[in-house]
Amino acid sequence: MSTLVFRAKKIITMNPSLPEATHIAVRAGRILAVGDEASMRALGDYQLDDRFGNKVMMPGLVEGHSHALEGALWAFLYLGFYPRQDPNGKTWDGIETVEAMQQRLQDAAERAPAGEPIIAWGFDPIFFRERELDRHALDAAVSDRPVVILHTSCHAMTVNTAALKQAGLDRHAGVEGIMLDAEGRPNGSIKEMAAMHAIHEGLGINLFDSVSKPEGLRLFGEKARRVGVTTATDLYNPLTDEGIAALQEVTAADDFPLRLVPAMTTLGRPVDEGIERLRACRNKGNDKLYFGLAKVMTDGAMTAYTARLNWPYYHNGQPNGAWNASPEELKGIVHAYHQAGCQLQIHANGDEALDIMLDAVHEALEMWPRPDHRITLQHCQLANQAQMRRAASLGVCFNLLMNHLYFWGDIHLEHILGYERCQRLNPSASVARHGIPLAIHSDAPVTPLGPLFTAYVACVRKTAGGQVLGEHERLNVPQALEAITLGAAYTLRLDHLIGSLEMGKFADFAVLDRDPLVCGPDALADIRVEATVVGGRVHEC
Ligand SMILES: [Zn+2]
Repeated sequence: MSTLVFRAKKIITMNPSLPEATHIAVRAGRILAVGDEASMRALGDYQLDDRFGNKVMMPGLVEGHSHALEGALWAFLYLGFYPRQDPNGKTWDGIETVEAMQQRLQDAAERAPAGEPIIAWGFDPIFFRERELDRHALDAAVSDRPVVILHTSCHAMTVNTAALKQAGLDRHAGVEGIMLDAEGRPNGSIKEMAAMHAIHEGLGINLFDSVSKPEGLRLFGEKARRVGVTTATDLYNPLTDEGIAALQEVTAADDFPLRLVPAMTTLGRPVDEGIERLRACRNKGNDKLYFGLAKVMTDGAMTAYTARLNWPYYHNGQPNGAWNASPEELKGIVHAYHQAGCQLQIHANGDEALDIMLDAVHEALEMWPRPDHRITLQHCQLANQAQMRRAASLGVCFNLLMNHLYFWGDIHLEHILGYERCQRLNPSASVARHGIPLAIHSDAPVTPLGPLFTAYVACVRKTAGGQVLGEHERLNVPQALEAITLGAAYTLRLDHLIGSLEMGKFADFAVLDRDPLVCGPDALADIRVEATVVGGRVHEC
């Protein structure tokens, strides 16, 4: 079997026993040796790949909390507030006014065949607070066909009159979450899952189902490659038969540049059935596909005021958020899946949700103790010091929603959280100090996939408006790099296979145009990913 040796200006290994190297040998998709030129001679004949000779290589980046919708949604029109790059490398301008949004919808309607619905995503109402978007604003742009806009939170939509009509929901709809105007007619605002489901049914579309199709997953792979990601989660996958088949199909292809780790949704299905489904998936994975994670949704999102906060709740006096199921039901789900041996990934955004979930994990571990359980609490954006001491004693991992600080930090400061809580927003330095295993994430498509950007936010803690929030919670660059490689791999129980460059692990690399350990934290977001290598195979950007 042939041996391929990659040479680089510098190889950052994330292996403390040998932190730096210049050569890495690959055989059959795995790392055969790491070292310098002299150490490679012992391998006998090998083929040298020198194309990255003046580049820096590091372990392929690992995104511990993303959704494959980050790829699949690009089949639809982008209407986000911030500029964003699509999987083909095109950067779309952000939409900052209702007029700009109307223009983009009109342009799309002109390009599309007559009658075909216009489906869009990424709209973020929190940046349009002075004006509630309703069906009339969309009718003014496009009225001859349905328009459906999924909000960036993925928890709400706005639709036009034609969409309501076609779905049979244009009169009094009687469905919770289909919001009404003063005359009692649906106004085009659609909130939460049941109401969005009614729109999907009525129009014969389903945006969320697009991750169950191979095309959507392939777009996700493209997006990942561009930002150096070689392993990513799809952290809310229904694991339908069709979805499992799609995951198997795309990951079986040699040229698919991504290892996928789906986490099964536990809400909306009987617990026994969910456990059975996850068990049945055990042998359905491959080198690029890993089953076993169970995802529990608890509260909502802070920007939608649906996250559950402890006293004194929201800074601007908005009522406290919402649970996706009662706390007792949620605890029952945690207990049952833990007892069944599944690895839990638990969404807990607000600090009240974190308290309830720490209780649930504590009870589960008392009843069914398990060493090395790697239960991971996701988001944990408002974790306080007492909660972190407790998390450390329970041995849970934290994966922080770090990108929030950049994209919504200014709004958190002014409206949602106020000054003091913004100092501890995604408290990564404290998490590390408490010895809690740490990862940081994008929650793509809520924010763009791109772990080097996420690392930049963790080190610099600057908002889009340029304010620093919580300077005492900054990570240093080595800590941030660990969080986007080995740290995330640990939370997925894959750290023996990926996350660092060591003999025997998968030959997964990110190839960079400069050295993140030298360029300084401010430049982390500007590092260019030149290529990824997955299982020894090069995917150039
Ligand atoms: Zn998520």
